[in-house]
Amino acid sequence: MVKPSLRVAKTRKRRTPSGTKLRRVEKRTKKPHCANCGAIVHGVAFGSQNRVRKMSRSERLPTRQHAGHLCSNCLKSAIKAEVRS
Ligand SMILES: [Zn+2]
Repeated sequence: MVKPSLRVAKTRKRRTPSGTKLRRVEKRTKKPHCANCGAIVHGVAFGSQNRVRKMSRSERLPTRQHAGHLCSNCLKSAIKAEVRS
């Protein structure tokens, strides 16, 4: 069995107004990282899938090339290399 500290799903007990008990399973998510250098990519929505799906498309990702894959520094150098070649 997996150690409790390494488990991805986290259960929370909730009680509804009528008194019935509920068990909610929430999955932990990590912040998105750059594919090139591994730094945290800013401006990208993360968290529970419920929360992210309620956001509009423009709130989830920046509207530029390689958004969510490359950090701003790596994108800058990639564009420079592409233009110079
Ligand atoms: Zn990077």
